[in-house]
Amino acid sequence: MIVRLIRCAFFGLWAGLAGIAHCAESVLNLYTARHYQTDEALYENFTKLTGIKINRLEGKEDELLERIKNEGAASPADVFLTVDAARLAKADELGLFAPLQSKLIEQRIPSHLRSANWAAFSTRARVIVYNKSLLKAEDVKSYEDLAQPKLKGQVCMRSGAHPYNLSLLASIIAHQGEQKAEEWARGVLGNFARPPKGGDTDQIRSVAAGECGVTISNSYYLARLMRSSKPEDKKVVEAIGLVWPNQATTGVHINVSGGGMLKTAPNKEAAKKFLEYLASDEAQRYFADGNNEWPAVPSVKIDNPALAAMGTFKADTLPITALAKNVSLAQKIYDRIGWK
Ligand code: FE
Repeated sequence: MIVRLIRCAFFGLWAGLAGIAHCAESVLNLYTARHYQTDEALYENFTKLTGIKINRLEGKEDELLERIKNEGAASPADVFLTVDAARLAKADELGLFAPLQSKLIEQRIPSHLRSANWAAFSTRARVIVYNKSLLKAEDVKSYEDLAQPKLKGQVCMRSGAHPYNLSLLASIIAHQGEQKAEEWARGVLGNFARPPKGGDTDQIRSVAAGECGVTISNSYYLARLMRSSKPEDKKVVEAIGLVWPNQATTGVHINVSGGGMLKTAPNKEAAKKFLEYLASDEAQRYFADGNNEWPAVPSVKIDNPALAAMGTFKADTLPITALAKNVSLAQKIYDRIGWK
């Protein structure tokens, strides 16, 4: 707060002389659950373009939500960015977001990737990664295959409580109903090579090392390894194969990263500028070329050799709001069967 007051005094004087800029627009307080190093450049570019300094508070999805809730009307947060539709919907349910009210965002972000109060700015797919010397692509063509008894002791997965796996199960609930979704989760759990631990990249490394034959990972973790020049990462990539799941049926499960302006935002103009910036060609390319996600704005041309090498695929077209609806049931199923 002290820092902000000093900045405001400085900017106020400067603005008075130059007749431009406002104190209230000189900072943006960003709460973000995105955890990618490449986002630094995305934020720096915004400051370069607008002069608005970003005060960033990084944290875990649920911790940030709790914090915003507890801070209430006094919260300094202007914008909340997070990963996964499940978390965006939760923030929305808690009434934390202000209405988007941006013609530009409405024009650029397709309607199935936004609600009245938040927008997705990038998408990612949950793909199957397998060990080429242990399995064939035909063995693991769908999420359903990972639940088949023939893969006993071959599956590595991260925690069921993680949003990425909650949303995946939520999509299976939406497509096949609760009972089939639970059967699927039980089948996968019964095939575990070891108890869940680590993130998606850890699962990929375990597959490459032969600790397990197959896993499910968000696409950008795989693309990151594909673009790495480290010899140990190159070895990982050589040992594994990528499968786009469910191409004959519902398509690969897609999720998003996105955000919105908070109802209590002290710097509303800056928040709107920032959200509109995230929908710009430039920012969209940071998501794609920097963090290996796909742009939410369909017209954006990207230059990412790993995404190009991964090829084209059929995506699940389930609206992200349908995922959000089933997330708490997904958590109940994981709890019930003991996928921790
Ligand atoms: Fe992630």
